[in-house]
Amino acid sequence: MALLPVADALTQVLNSVTELENEIISIHTARGRITASDIASKLTQPPFAASAMDGYAVRFEDVASPLRVVGESQAGLSYAGVLNPGEAVRIFTGAPMVEGADTVVIQENVTKTEDQIIINACKAKGVNIRAIGSDFMIGEILVDKNTKLDARHIALLAAGNVAELSVYRKPRVAILSTGDELVEVGSVIGPDKIVNSNVPMFMALVEENGGIAINLGTAKDTIESVSEKIDQVGHADIFVSIGGVSVGDYDIIQDVLKDKGLKVDFWKVAMQPGKPIIYGDFNGIPYFGMPGNPSSAYVCFANFMLPAMHKMTGHIDMGFKSSHARLEHDVKEGGTRMNYMRARVHENERGEKLVSSTLTQSSANLKTLARSNCLLVREVGAPAADAGDLVKIIHIEP
Ligand code: AMP
Ligand code: MG
Repeated sequence: MALLPVADALTQVLNSVTELENEIISIHTARGRITASDIASKLTQPPFAASAMDGYAVRFEDVASPLRVVGESQAGLSYAGVLNPGEAVRIFTGAPMVEGADTVVIQENVTKTEDQIIINACKAKGVNIRAIGSDFMIGEILVDKNTKLDARHIALLAAGNVAELSVYRKPRVAILSTGDELVEVGSVIGPDKIVNSNVPMFMALVEENGGIAINLGTAKDTIESVSEKIDQVGHADIFVSIGGVSVGDYDIIQDVLKDKGLKVDFWKVAMQPGKPIIYGDFNGIPYFGMPGNPSSAYVCFANFMLPAMHKMTGHIDMGFKSSHARLEHDVKEGGTRMNYMRARVHENERGEKLVSSTLTQSSANLKTLARSNCLLVREVGAPAADAGDLVKIIHIEP
């Protein structure tokens, strides 16, 4: 069977997943969530004209003569009276403007004696005042639908008195690993065993990208053990298994899952690493069968599972960001599969991005994966490229 091109595989994945429902959450837990509607302000900001500086509220027509200081307007407590000709009111940043005053003179431009001030400079009428609504008006859309909320959006919404908002629900991702050789981190490692590193990696990937990880544990490479674990998938939004998807005698997961209702959309994609990935529908749940080598599993996550999670949660841009960088060394021509080389990108003193992929490329090698900060993409059949040529990279550092 011919291998499916990566782009076609991604299209199949994205066509088969749908957006999750919305939920109402507190502004205090909104960081990193994606808005499910446009969000309007519940008030006008500032709600009153306010001083933008520490100084004196005056009438501009009076600034040439000495003025008598008749009171004070502080943030949170306005001056009760009305300003008369020949008067000034001491005023502070954020304090309500004084009725009758039209200008704020900064205190650095004033000489004060007893209860009088002399104004040494005042450029124009109306300076140093924040007008009502100069930031935003009640009813104005503060944050658009499908925005990933960060600290700046949260501050803006809080200023608009938005205490609760509608976001996409977090996807629940059930994670199952398979392999007789695996023991859990922190255990005593017996002969012939290795530590399960993919489950901690996938739990971190899921959490890092706005999902809820559900660890189903590790199945032995037997039909009974795999079956028993699969029955625990429950109401996940994504089901991902790791290992056992290739053609070895112990690679049984596909058959066991098919017996329990899996419809396979594709198996084997023209990519390296990650070729034996399975994707399908497991009783209504999108299913990813990831290869067990950590780098293979990671590259499959980057190419398919992250975009699926992003689509489910209303992201506009799906998957890791990509860009271009100049090669620091020659690379050979692309083969028959898309190659995702683990690589490092950095900026030189002129701000140009330079990429190097001299790290060991074995898909079993975790140190390479952890030390890389991007994937250098070699397209199928791409001509050999020289140092200095621009190549596509995928940024993988959060
Ligand atoms: P498999 O896809 O099951 O043939 O596994 C391919 C390679 O990945 C083997 O060397 C496995 O030992 C290794 N492997 C599989 N699952 C894991 C895991 N959860 N953590 C670390 N290595 C794994
Ligand atoms: Mg295995």
